[in-house]
Amino acid sequence: MKVEASTLQIDFKNRRALVTGAGKGIGRDIAMMLHRFNAQVVGVSRTEADLKSLQEQIGCETIVADIGDADEAKRMAEQAGEVDLLVNNAAITILQSFFETTVQAWDTQLNVNLRSVLVISQVIAAQMVQRKVPGSIVNVSSMAAFQALPDHAAYCASKAGLDQLTAVMAVELGQYGIRVNCVNPTVVLTEMGKRAWSNPAKGDPMLKRIPLRRFAECEDVASVVCYLLSDGAAMLNALSLRIDGGFLVS
Ligand code: NAP
Repeated sequence: MKVEASTLQIDFKNRRALVTGAGKGIGRDIAMMLHRFNAQVVGVSRTEADLKSLQEQIGCETIVADIGDADEAKRMAEQAGEVDLLVNNAAITILQSFFETTVQAWDTQLNVNLRSVLVISQVIAAQMVQRKVPGSIVNVSSMAAFQALPDHAAYCASKAGLDQLTAVMAVELGQYGIRVNCVNPTVVLTEMGKRAWSNPAKGDPMLKRIPLRRFAECEDVASVVCYLLSDGAAMLNALSLRIDGGFLVS
């Protein structure tokens, strides 16, 4: 991979990239952008039809897996082969007030959003170390790691946990030349985003606090993820990088 300083062109030629949650939304855009930057993409998701259409679009490899199941997540990571770039993107949200949050919904969200990142990254990072490649890992977190959102107790907890898992991974894996960062987007109106924010009563106050006066697009997130994966970001490690249009300081 090389980055030309004059144009900041990213080229992931001969790099293999694993993207979880590549079937829809942000993950799909990340997979497509990685493909545009010449990466060999392996897309993971639950719905086979989504992966089939992604494969038709960019000619990537695909693996159908439910990464909320720890054994399945591990098997998927082992099956993915020699990965240089890992994007832990898949997550779910189950909207429940604090009092209504069930143990089952809590466990499901924590397992998909947080535990899977541990299990998958253990397998992928171990083979990066063994192959002595300077891998890069980006975890897709959320502004929910910093911001307490009503009806998102388990989701917020999972994302705050993900930021700290990212930091510990960065501290432990740095000695092998492996960088680990996360990105923290504000609302993106994907299927997940629409469920929580398409009601103007909820969405408008959020929008008003974003100085750029818009929500993020999938591409806004994908381009930052690709940059963090690239050599242009060679000294960036352990970041929780807000993609929030300035929300947090307003
Ligand atoms: P999305 O549109 O719901 O897409 C999520 C993708 O992940 C889908 O392809 C889904 O597959 C897959 N997935 C979910 N659970 C899975 C599992 N157990 N095993 C394998 N794949 C699974 O969500 P999104 O909005 O693109 O979110 C992507 C990431 O961005 C998440 O980490 C999310 O927390 C984060 N984020 C989103 C927003 C937002 O407003 N949208 C804001 C900040 C951060 P199926 O559809 O087949 O289940």
